[in-house]
Amino acid sequence: MNWQGRRICFVFVDGIGLAPESGSNPFSGGTMAGLEERIGMPLLAGLSVHRVDCVAHGIDATMGVPGLPQSATGQAALFTGENTALLCDGHMPAFPGRILTALIRQDNILKRAAEAGIPVTFANAYSGAYFEELAADTRAPSATTLSVMAAGIRFRMLEDLCAGEAVYWDITRAMVQTRTGREDVPRIQPEEAASHLAGLARMHGLVLYETFMTDMLGHKGRVDEARDFLVILDRFLSVLADAVVADGGTLVVTSDHGNIEDCATRAHTTNPVPLIALGRQAEAFAEVNSIMDVPGCIWQCISALEAM
Ligand SMILES: [Zn+2]
Repeated sequence: MNWQGRRICFVFVDGIGLAPESGSNPFSGGTMAGLEERIGMPLLAGLSVHRVDCVAHGIDATMGVPGLPQSATGQAALFTGENTALLCDGHMPAFPGRILTALIRQDNILKRAAEAGIPVTFANAYSGAYFEELAADTRAPSATTLSVMAAGIRFRMLEDLCAGEAVYWDITRAMVQTRTGREDVPRIQPEEAASHLAGLARMHGLVLYETFMTDMLGHKGRVDEARDFLVILDRFLSVLADAVVADGGTLVVTSDHGNIEDCATRAHTTNPVPLIALGRQAEAFAEVNSIMDVPGCIWQCISALEAM
């Protein structure tokens, strides 16, 4: 299967939605000016871009189910394409339970790619301690961890991170020492992290990377702190977008639910989440209207289906 021209770099940013400009919306005032320049519109309510090389608009994260969208159901929907909120009879927070775990094990976009022989990887770096905690049942696996396990692909570790072949979930590795105690892992600039991810995107039909710093900051509800991280995210995504597009791939950025865009509340929101596609296959994402549509569209892009 020829996957070279179909490469997708999928960046999942936890807890970012689209809201009007306001004092409690850290996206206000061009915080992410770099990405906004590449898209051609501010990352606010009303985002609507449709060009050959760029599609960007809000997509539904509620799945038509009442209540605030949550991480377990939202992420499982992003990776499986199923209406997980309906399946679970409501939005499920944090880590997948029994129903969602079974669903992710059965089918997810990473597994589907791996089984089709498409080179696929999860870019995030893990620590050995994480797997010890999983084994000891003191920690539950996330939707992404479960997806990687189901796909049977290897986890990237801190050694890969040091070799520039993985990215830490906070982009700059500021949290490595706090979370893992490793003092030998130097911090890096967002641009360098972007070039590491772009390197992986060059070698794989599908690369997934996730950052959940945005969701954590949304739950803190401090606009200034949120804005500081969005600047880092913007520097990261801007360089990543340029590299992926220059390499002939497609960058896809989306989220599981709103949160950080409304710092007046510490809870998630029902706002639409941004769907941003930049590059060669951007237009394929024009009809994506819900988080449930994302994995199917990625599959179409990386597989040979559309050529048949
Ligand atoms: Zn959250």
